[in-house]
Amino acid sequence: MAKKQSKKKDDKKKKWYAEGLRFECTQCGDCCSGAPGFVWVNEEEIAAMAEEMEMEIDAFEHQFVRQVGREKSLKEYPDGDCILLGPESRKCTVYESRPIQCRTWPFWDSTVKKRGDWKQACEVCPGAGTGKLYTFDEIELQRKRKSV
Ligand code: SF4
Repeated sequence: MAKKQSKKKDDKKKKWYAEGLRFECTQCGDCCSGAPGFVWVNEEEIAAMAEEMEMEIDAFEHQFVRQVGREKSLKEYPDGDCILLGPESRKCTVYESRPIQCRTWPFWDSTVKKRGDWKQACEVCPGAGTGKLYTFDEIELQRKRKSV
């Protein structure tokens, strides 16, 4: 047990964000729009979003989900906006049941790997780098959550 605890401390010491990082979403919607990309979803997440929209799972999937190889992703509009981003409100229409990929932004492997990656995330997300301080453990919890 003692060994495990000291390994955890060592992991923390090695990470550049050991003292935590700040993030507070301004709800600008920028992370749900812009360049085309993928929002990976699994069956459980699809069911939760369908329930929030009071739709049958099959109908929800037909309207909002696309198959990408063996995985599934939310569809997008041609301009890259997420299909579930309210076109006028610019807010997520399934916010309460949004997928893990959306919940864990901006604490992804790819955004916290190096200081420079985080800097880039701060440039595209006005909420990253400001507001609430997330501890190292909170960041690690988010970073390790995966949906598919
Ligand atoms: S880009 Fe950042 S601040 Fe804007 S909605 Fe997304 S998470 Fe929130």
